[in-house]
Amino acid sequence: MAATIVRRCLSRALKLQKVSRVFDYVKRSYVASKMEMQDLYNQTKAAAERQQPMPDQDPEAIFSNNELSLSDVEVYGFDYDYTLATYTPELHSLIFNLGKEALVRQLKYPKEILDYEYDTDFAVRGLHFDTKKGLFMKIDQFHNIQLGTVYRGLQPVADKEVITLYEGTHIPMTNMNSFYGVGQMHQMIDLFALPEVTLISQIISYFIENNICYDPEYVFYDIRNTVQSLHTSGVLHDTIMRGLAVSDNFHYNDLFFFAVVSDVGMKYMVGSDWRDLFDIVIVNARKPKFFKEGYRPFRIYDEDKKAPEWGPVTSMRKGIVYHQGNHIELQKMTGWYGPKVLYFGDHVYSDLADPSLRYGWRTGAIIPELEVSVCPERHYCKDTRPAIRKNVQLTVNREIM
Ligand SMILES: [Mg+2]
Repeated sequence: MAATIVRRCLSRALKLQKVSRVFDYVKRSYVASKMEMQDLYNQTKAAAERQQPMPDQDPEAIFSNNELSLSDVEVYGFDYDYTLATYTPELHSLIFNLGKEALVRQLKYPKEILDYEYDTDFAVRGLHFDTKKGLFMKIDQFHNIQLGTVYRGLQPVADKEVITLYEGTHIPMTNMNSFYGVGQMHQMIDLFALPEVTLISQIISYFIENNICYDPEYVFYDIRNTVQSLHTSGVLHDTIMRGLAVSDNFHYNDLFFFAVVSDVGMKYMVGSDWRDLFDIVIVNARKPKFFKEGYRPFRIYDEDKKAPEWGPVTSMRKGIVYHQGNHIELQKMTGWYGPKVLYFGDHVYSDLADPSLRYGWRTGAIIPELEVSVCPERHYCKDTRPAIRKNVQLTVNREIM
């Protein structure tokens, strides 16, 4: 019995001795590696200190985060509105006035709104409108509401109320009305949308001030459809063309070196020989459908009849004006595909995201708001910017290139 106990004690002592030797080895290795690391650190630090310091950077400079070699580009394409053609601020006042007159005449909105003036400083591009709650707001790329930018009509909504209404500040993706869903949050992304935002805000304010019951969704679609009809009916186009006092050959809409265009507008801006500059001209392309849908065929536009012809289009030639069409047919007939095409446009989705993400085109963004960030002295908008414009941080859209 005693011998057994002695053997067990000896065995445990031997095990402890073994563990102790392992511990000492690890400890020595740790100390050695720590010294090695310290030595390496000192060497690296000394090498870094021998380097020239980083020169001061010009905070006003523009830095590129993407590169494009034009030697890889074979085809250049252009959107028309706000890309080839820019408009004076009077155009937004015109849309606003034509819109309010149509609302009163056609949908019997209160005559008092005819007295409203267009406020050029109220809205910025990219705002979202919640058709259920009747609020305008700025939402960031992670779908968080930017507090301080929420408006009901012309009045700002307190942050506390916003957080209560939305149970926080995040908007689920399914509530967005864009690439991802058909929810209640509509983004007003088009430059033509600025008078629309102002009109919606002023009319909602009128309803609130006069205790008129309203559903913001009805107001939103009434105004959206009315303003849209100004474009599709040709009323806006006719008014612009009368202002230019030039004869009209084409129906107003999008043009493509290929360009998507208005003949009258191009003659006004470039001259009567403007078509020499382009290999293919497309009118009434109807973006974003041009890029999203592949079934609308190209038709030749008869310039004498001012209407599309009935015959099929199997090839594309310079000097012919094409009507509508789609991206798939364009690619098939021209061989213009992928990164050999550089397309310029102003609309973040229909000009830039669609051709870039769907077809791999290179795209150039024409974003006039960047002028404010890059060259504020060039005075794109006034310094004293009230309401939404004042509170919203301008979104610098990353170029999709
Ligand atoms: Mg455009």
